Amino acid sequence: MASELELEMQAIDRSLLECSAEEIAGKWLQATDLTREVYQHLAHYVPKIYCRSPNPCPQKEDMVAQHVLLAPMEWYLCGEDSEFGFPKLQQANKPSHLCGRVFKVGEPTYSCRDCAVDPTCVLCMDCFLGSIHRDHRYRMTTSGGGGFCDCGDTEAWKEGPYCQKHELNTPEIEEEEDPLVHLSEDVIARSYNIFTIMFQYAVEILTWEKESELPADLEMVEKSDTYYCMLFNDEVHTYEQVIYTLQKAVNCTQKEAIGFATTVDRDGRRSVRCGDFQYCEQAKSIIVRNTSSRQTKPLKVQVMHSSLVAHQSFGLKVLSWLGSVIGYSDGLRRILCQVGLQEGPDGENSSLVDRLMLSDSKLWKGARSVYHQLFMSSLLMDLKYKKLFAVRFAKNYERLQSDYVTDDHDREFSIADLSVQIFTVPSLARMLITEENLMTIIIKTFMDHLRHRDTQGRFQFERYTALQAFKFRRVQSLILDLKYVLISKPTEWSDDLREKFLEGFDAFLELLKCMQGMDPITRQVGQHIEMEPEWEAAFTLQMKLTHVISMMQDWCALDEKVLIEAYKKCLTVLMQCHGGFTDGEQPITLSICGHSVETIRYCVSQEKVSIHLPVSRLLAGLHVLLSKSEVAYKFPELLPLSELSPPMLIEHPLRCLVLCAQVHAGMWRRNGFSLVNQIYYYHNVKCRREMFDKDIVMLQTGVSMMDPNHFLMIMLSRFELYQIFSTPDYGKRFSSEITHKDVVQQNNTLIEEMLYLIIMLVGERFSPGVGQVNATDDIKREIIHQLSIKPMAHSELVKSLPEDENKETGMESVIEAVAHFKKPGLTGRGMYELKPECAKEFNLYFYHFSRAEQSKAEEAQRKLKRQNREDTALPPPVLPPFCPLFASLVNILQSDVMLCIMRTILQWAVEHNGYAWSESMLQRVLHLIGMALQEEKQHLENVTEEHVVTFTFTQKISKPGEAPNNSPSILAMLETLQNAPYLEVHKDMIRWILKTFNAIKKLRESSSPSPVAETEGTIMEESSRDKDKAERKRKAEIARLRREKIMAQMSEMQRHFIDENKELFQQTLELDASASAVLDNSPVVSDKTLTALGPAQTQVPEQRQFVTCILCQEEQEVKVESKAMVLAAFVQRSTVLSKDRSKFIQDPEKYDPLFMHPDLSCGTHTGSCGHIMHAHCWQRYFDSVQAKEQRRQQRLRLHTSYDVENGEFLCPLCECLSNTVIPLLLPPRKIFNSRLNFSDQPNLTQWIRTISQQIKALQALGKEEGTPHTTSSKNSENMDEFQLPEGFRPDFRPKNPYSESIKEMLKTFGTATYKVGLKLHPNEEDPRVPVMCWGSCAYTIQSLERILSDEDKPLFGPLPCRLDDCLRSLTRFAAAHWTVASLSVVQGHFCKLFASLVPDDNHGDLPCILDIDMFHLLVGLVLAFPALQCQDFSGTSLGTGDLHIFRLVTMAHIIQLLLTSCTVIPYLSEENGMDEESPAGEEESAVLALYKTLQQCTGSALKEVPPGWHLWRNVRAGILPFLKCSALFFHYLNGVPSPPEMQVSGASHFEHLCNYLSLPSNLVSLFQENNEITKSLIESWCHNIEVKRYLEGERDAISYPRESNKLIDLPEDYSSLINQASNFSCPKSGGDKSRAPTLCLVCGTLLCSQSYCCQTELEGEDVGACTAHTYSCGSGVGIFLRVRECQVLFLAGKTKGCFYSPPYLDDYGETDQGLRRGNPLHLCQERFKKIQKLWQQHSVTEEIGHAQEANQTLVGIDWQHL
Ligand SMILES: [Zn+2]
Ligand SMILES: [Zn+2]
Ligand SMILES: [Zn+2]
Ligand SMILES: [Zn+2]
Ligand SMILES: [Zn+2]
Ligand SMILES: [Zn+2]
Ligand SMILES: [Zn+2]
Repeated sequence: MASELELEMQAIDRSLLECSAEEIAGKWLQATDLTREVYQHLAHYVPKIYCRSPNPCPQKEDMVAQHVLLAPMEWYLCGEDSEFGFPKLQQANKPSHLCGRVFKVGEPTYSCRDCAVDPTCVLCMDCFLGSIHRDHRYRMTTSGGGGFCDCGDTEAWKEGPYCQKHELNTPEIEEEEDPLVHLSEDVIARSYNIFTIMFQYAVEILTWEKESELPADLEMVEKSDTYYCMLFNDEVHTYEQVIYTLQKAVNCTQKEAIGFATTVDRDGRRSVRCGDFQYCEQAKSIIVRNTSSRQTKPLKVQVMHSSLVAHQSFGLKVLSWLGSVIGYSDGLRRILCQVGLQEGPDGENSSLVDRLMLSDSKLWKGARSVYHQLFMSSLLMDLKYKKLFAVRFAKNYERLQSDYVTDDHDREFSIADLSVQIFTVPSLARMLITEENLMTIIIKTFMDHLRHRDTQGRFQFERYTALQAFKFRRVQSLILDLKYVLISKPTEWSDDLREKFLEGFDAFLELLKCMQGMDPITRQVGQHIEMEPEWEAAFTLQMKLTHVISMMQDWCALDEKVLIEAYKKCLTVLMQCHGGFTDGEQPITLSICGHSVETIRYCVSQEKVSIHLPVSRLLAGLHVLLSKSEVAYKFPELLPLSELSPPMLIEHPLRCLVLCAQVHAGMWRRNGFSLVNQIYYYHNVKCRREMFDKDIVMLQTGVSMMDPNHFLMIMLSRFELYQIFSTPDYGKRFSSEITHKDVVQQNNTLIEEMLYLIIMLVGERFSPGVGQVNATDDIKREIIHQLSIKPMAHSELVKSLPEDENKETGMESVIEAVAHFKKPGLTGRGMYELKPECAKEFNLYFYHFSRAEQSKAEEAQRKLKRQNREDTALPPPVLPPFCPLFASLVNILQSDVMLCIMRTILQWAVEHNGYAWSESMLQRVLHLIGMALQEEKQHLENVTEEHVVTFTFTQKISKPGEAPNNSPSILAMLETLQNAPYLEVHKDMIRWILKTFNAIKKLRESSSPSPVAETEGTIMEESSRDKDKAERKRKAEIARLRREKIMAQMSEMQRHFIDENKELFQQTLELDASASAVLDNSPVVSDKTLTALGPAQTQVPEQRQFVTCILCQEEQEVKVESKAMVLAAFVQRSTVLSKDRSKFIQDPEKYDPLFMHPDLSCGTHTGSCGHIMHAHCWQRYFDSVQAKEQRRQQRLRLHTSYDVENGEFLCPLCECLSNTVIPLLLPPRKIFNSRLNFSDQPNLTQWIRTISQQIKALQALGKEEGTPHTTSSKNSENMDEFQLPEGFRPDFRPKNPYSESIKEMLKTFGTATYKVGLKLHPNEEDPRVPVMCWGSCAYTIQSLERILSDEDKPLFGPLPCRLDDCLRSLTRFAAAHWTVASLSVVQGHFCKLFASLVPDDNHGDLPCILDIDMFHLLVGLVLAFPALQCQDFSGTSLGTGDLHIFRLVTMAHIIQLLLTSCTVIPYLSEENGMDEESPAGEEESAVLALYKTLQQCTGSALKEVPPGWHLWRNVRAGILPFLKCSALFFHYLNGVPSPPEMQVSGASHFEHLCNYLSLPSNLVSLFQENNEITKSLIESWCHNIEVKRYLEGERDAISYPRESNKLIDLPEDYSSLINQASNFSCPKSGGDKSRAPTLCLVCGTLLCSQSYCCQTELEGEDVGACTAHTYSCGSGVGIFLRVRECQVLFLAGKTKGCFYSPPYLDDYGETDQGLRRGNPLHLCQERFKKIQKLWQQHSVTEEIGHAQEANQTLVGIDWQHL
């Protein structure tokens, strides 16, 4: 059926394609009723083009539509073919200098922190790079899509509005030039016509609401019965739900369902079924039934007639067409704007633009985004119409927002979101405020949506329904709009603006009034609260409004008239709020020290109290602004202060602060966490500026306007402490009442809190307006106090500072002055440290410290002082003076009530009785005294002639208390306390106070020559007291010194002990771990020249090796016959060395690993943490892990970081991931080589001959055994003919020397290597097991050699013990493995390997030498050889065999090198060669000779003869890695110590290497020495057809030396990665932007991660793109960079993964995971190298294991779907 339809489609296409644009346009030009003509055309053709098949084929449809529908319009518009017409228009165009680029999802955007008017002003990457801002402080973010580049908008930038590109187009700026002048009259008229018709058409059809009818003039004559079942997007149902439902409803596959769901999610709708009405209706009802539940509405589905869908598709096409047409000319754009905004026939709100906006919430996502984009590229790009559009937008604001609030799409899909584009333009915002009263509209609209109020008219969020909560969430975006409107402050005020702003301010006050006192709470006594009350909504509102409140104040501050008006308004509203606040509350009178005041009876602990007081706080803010203003200084009488009633002002803020104190004292415990959270946010950096801080200001305002004694009494009363301080003997009574311990402690805390509050009221004068400071002083002080807690990273510091509406803290401007920056190392972050000279500004009672911070800071500062050998007093810092309006506040310190409080507390401390006082109480009193002294000192120092210093604190504290209690003076009590043994900590502070007191006394004496009479007595008294004070001081000092000396001695002893132990401890550790290494490297061999192999191998004396089991701690010797000791090991597949990542093992069952290809495409790597156990101890441990895991899986289905079923476990000592164990062995060669050796050993030629014979014999025997039934007679015949080589005994079976336990471990590890390397089920009989063992040995050595070379480390330099142990064990294991394998299998392998170099008749199809990795071949041959040699009794030693194998392979490698190096790179760079080594003449000629031989053998395929030095150099460079690997291999195999020269780095050790390996240093001489066979060998190697093909250029080969693999190069600037990723689209869903573009750091592929579209099936499971990629690219291991998150991702297998810190740092030495801060990021090479090293060392999986062990949440992540 489908094909039929397609045929039909094609048929129609052909007829359609015959349409001529010119003809149709011609007809239109003649038409009298153009609209009708065009509509007829559309009515006829649109349904013929669109919706011809169940599945849309947009490309085809668009192609035909362009031809049949759009081309005539273009023709009509241009009056000629648009191919010529549009370019002409474009040429005539004078484009504006706005960039206007609309951002794609994920595209990087840049904002200049110095020049952007607000943070919403952004540049695209091109514009940014061409702007001046690239050298400024900028912020980078990724766009969420929508929004456009503001380049060229002069209102958006304080400086540099144009980039280079957009600046070019501004010759003489004629902003107001009408773009229409560049168009001809005709074009204007015709565009106007066609735009009107088409825009009208699109709007009509898109907003059409009937499902099966069309507008009358589009209705067709005959109507088919074709319908679509259209599924719409909503934000309620999940992907899975939709997919599941679709499978059910329309019978599609899961894949199709995923496709539908993806499109619905992206475009907002998708037809899921096509057919007759019934058919579609049926699907609809199933979907509706399946997706509705009690809580949720069903998915929206419509059955729509196909012609309607067709017209709607074309309608969208028209809109984008309009968008592209106006791109040719600003004139056309203006015409379109005009058409769009023209009022329609229905008057108000009937323009096309209005109609679209007003039906926004009814349109589907795709339609919305198309017309939003059109608006952005038309209306918002035209300066004239932008204004008109803004007015339309503002007029419709209320409707649009209401639509948005009830719509369920995200804001980015709503037209309401355009507010950011309009309101942030300062001129537009200003215009809308004055002309459209926008501020008021926004606030009123907002209020309208929050109708739920309590009886007092306050917001009530308690018991919100889900719908109300949803609305509340959405309506918050209106606050954002308000913020946008206010963000740019007016530079000048018109009367209009004043009026409208104040009107808005009124509305705002109404809003705040609804918040004043909301969420009131009452203390819970007796029982706990039953349900935590809702508190978050209120705080969310407060938090969102914080910036708006601040901005309101900023606006007010700009104009005195406005400020005073606003102040009055605010005061009025506050009084309304407090209307009759004394009602029902009884007045009471308080009196202390002869002062008395009237107040009301009110207890925070018993009555309602609220944290939300925005009106009071706004007034406090305005008061500070007034205080700062000029009027306050010049004409304070003009200020509206007379109406203020200070007790009323302070009442509510004071209650709030008392509430905090009581919560802290534990009195509100039963009110649960909601209260704790509220108190937390009240002080938190996000809220405090408009909450806590302002309450302090309000109290300061109150104190400065009233008698401080009165204030203090009211305060005592609110703190419920009045009784204590008004009753003289209260303290004494406490001491006896043990029963009330809790109450006493509660009161103590309250007293502490109250004192703290007084400290804050006096000390916090760093807001401009309160004290005589500026804004930077304020920030400096914040930073100083943050850094006195500890050094901090930039981001930490930013987080602790309040941000303004532009997200700026102002920190950068002052940080240099107060802190030093310390750069980060390989890990960690850059840190700021406080400059020492700033420490004196430290205030222990800084009001923004949390309690924890305060005690940390105190500790840190005291420690610092001790380090500097200073006393540890932390006296209050010197403070700036108050502003005049607040100046009288300081008198609180010397007020009678204050002195009374101080005296009382000091008295308690002197009496030192019971619980009635606390040290921190005393500490605070001392601090207050200190503050008062500082104050007095400053007054004295700054006093001018005519003024008298009225601050006389010193005098007041010298006076003893009055009757009746006759207590001593405060000063006297301090002196007493100075020697109190229980106050050691405060001694320094008291001493500081007394010192300062004396200093002030001196100052006073010097300033007033005649001391006041009344103080004389006290001074006399003091001097006598001074004497015995001095005496006591002296004694105390002696005692202190003695104590200190003793302490010092003790701590010295202690340190010594620890130091010694530490060394001891470390020593044991090292010995333990490196036991084997140390023994091995001990210079037992005196011999100068060391030889690693062959008959001349240096003989190493027998060494005994003792190791300790980490599990049972028993020591054991490693011996052949003893129980096995094993190393924990981890075997993994690896592609780290791969030169061809496209290759991977296709079918492991059939894969033959015998020959490794030189591309090393898939190897098996073995690593170990180096920890040794008994085999049986390990078995027991592993069994218990397994059992535990099984139990755990049954109980809770948790994952672990390791996969027990796959044999994984964690090393019991270091928790390193392991999956098998390697047995520890002695050098295995010794065991087999103990047989008699004749002195005469064969040379290479003889040896090859012998071996060939032996192989032949074996093969003959093998054939006989293998084919017993068929041709046995013939074979036995052969046998008769066949002569066994001399001394060869194929029937001999050697005895296995190893103990059972060792044999078992040999098998265990062998099987593990096989299982992991080939991913097969374990099968110890498989002939490939030994091959895998040898391969893992070779591969692991090769990868180590690469790492050493890359790091320029010596081959035998010091290696980490774990690596050394691992390689030794691995090599020896591989060499011993044949003893547990089938002898004939190993012999078979040997024969085959051998045949690749010395051809025989039985192996025809072996790889050619170009396709063999020679090191793997060498390892295989050497390790398989004993299986053959053990049957050879002719006297040829194992060593001889090793040597000859090695030489033979070396020769083959040389030929391989000559073949590959000469053809690929034509010997380049002769000048480069000059400074390198040059060959001796003899070597050069030797290599030339060899090359000529090669030339002969290849039959002149090698044409040119390169210069000898070049060949020589190539061979030497190419063979070096092979020789190094071989040296490592034989070193570990035979245990011959390495030559000392090679243990240090330096120039190439080529000669030493050759000596050690028993090779001539002129390697080519190997060929000359054995010239009898050289020729034939070379001939046989070159004969291979592959060699010929290669030489003829038909195929490639690996060339040598192989370069080390590195991770890909990353760009220096992170934004270029973001840009690259934003251009990347999902490879599967046709041009869609990928949501999580992820870069493979190994090969550079970009992947579409974490998304349905790119899931594939792997081994029967769905996996994400990353996991799938790791299987081909990294054999299961992958290293990725998640570009949007700026996060490195490690993956291993399907279940393992972790995130790793990215190698990108900002200027402050910090990473930015998640790109939240947006600071520019730059590549940190060192960190990237660290990641690369992890990869090269095969440590990624281990790293994941450690990360998962440390952070269990990582285990739960679904890594396979990434
Ligand atoms: Zn731009
Ligand atoms: Zn630009
Ligand atoms: Zn800038
Ligand atoms: Zn043990
Ligand atoms: Zn370990
Ligand atoms: Zn994808
Ligand atoms: Zn890759």
